[in-house]
Amino acid sequence: MDVPFLSLKDVNARYADELKAAAARVIDSGWYVLGQEVSAFEQEFAEYCGVRHAVGVGNGLDALALILRAYKELGALHDGDEVIVPGNTFIASLLAISENRLVPVPVEPDAVSFNLDPARVSAAVGPRTRAIMAVHLYGQLADMPALSELAQRHNLLLIEDAAQAHGAMRDGRRAGAFGHAAGFSFFPAKNLGALGDGGAIVTDDSVLAARIAVLRNYGSDVKYRHLYQGVNSRLDELQAALLRVKLPYLDEEIARRRQVALRYRAAIRHPAIQLPSTPQEERHAWHLFVVRCRQRDALQQHLLAQGVHSQVHYPIAPHRQAAYPLLHGLQLPLTEQLHDEVLSLPIGPAMRDEDVQRVIDACQSFPEPA
Ligand SMILES: *Cc1c(COP(=O)(O)O)cnc(C)c1O
Repeated sequence: MDVPFLSLKDVNARYADELKAAAARVIDSGWYVLGQEVSAFEQEFAEYCGVRHAVGVGNGLDALALILRAYKELGALHDGDEVIVPGNTFIASLLAISENRLVPVPVEPDAVSFNLDPARVSAAVGPRTRAIMAVHLYGQLADMPALSELAQRHNLLLIEDAAQAHGAMRDGRRAGAFGHAAGFSFFPAKNLGALGDGGAIVTDDSVLAARIAVLRNYGSDVKYRHLYQGVNSRLDELQAALLRVKLPYLDEEIARRRQVALRYRAAIRHPAIQLPSTPQEERHAWHLFVVRCRQRDALQQHLLAQGVHSQVHYPIAPHRQAAYPLLHGLQLPLTEQLHDEVLSLPIGPAMRDEDVQRVIDACQSFPEPA
């Protein structure tokens, strides 16, 4: 039997009875969109994140896009305004910006944390900069104290792309509680995953939360009265009910991810494989365990030959994608090097000890490059 990159079946199997009961509750209720399951989940997720409001939406991309859209409706952002974003993020961070006719400005990340480097962000702030989109890549919080200070100094909005970081913590605060607003994804493979698509915005800003709640539902506050040209992006009752089952176990699952990460860090010792490092005071949510290797493709082939499946997050930087011809001229050498060298090893809350050992053995047996 191979070691899968992530078995969603195993992740959800331990909650099967509770998930089925929750699904039955929704089926029997006869109410499937924007009802009490969504309201209850919004309240529970806001509480978990330590913020006042959560608004459920259709997916993580919409969560980020609706934050920016709401700021535009509120007059805080305008067409052509620039948003600083890490160069090495998932494409959704940029799509949320450009779909709002804002301009993504990718900057080089910090070489150790893979997250935004406050010094480089500071250097990128110009007359049209209005916001920073910090991505907590791989489950590790960006340097939010430094970025908050920067945002305050330049009067910028600070938005968290927390799609990979549910439950990540620093100084007793969780991902989503550092910026003006944060977007989460509940795509099945995320740390808190639904059994389909889902997303949420969290914020302490009541005005912003109320505006997003209207925008996600056709711009309608009262049935068939439309205040804005909104969208249809709602978390559905079924996914909300399933997420309510899984949320109470999230911290336990992160603890198991952490155990796997600590074993990898203790046991993988290979001159060609660079392990991720994290500062002591942080609780990394370990969404992904990403190593760097100059012979990345050879390592991935080697692991596969040993029955170990890995993935690359991500093979092509956003500024090199066909979707963004206007960004092709950017020079981001570190970002590009990371995309050539990163490899994500299997990690997950349901991973068995034997499989962890097989990943370690497979890494250790990678022939040392000449
Ligand atoms: C998954 C992800 C998203 C988008 O979430 P979806 O629910 O798939 O739309 C956005 N940003 C990052 C960093 C992600 O990993």
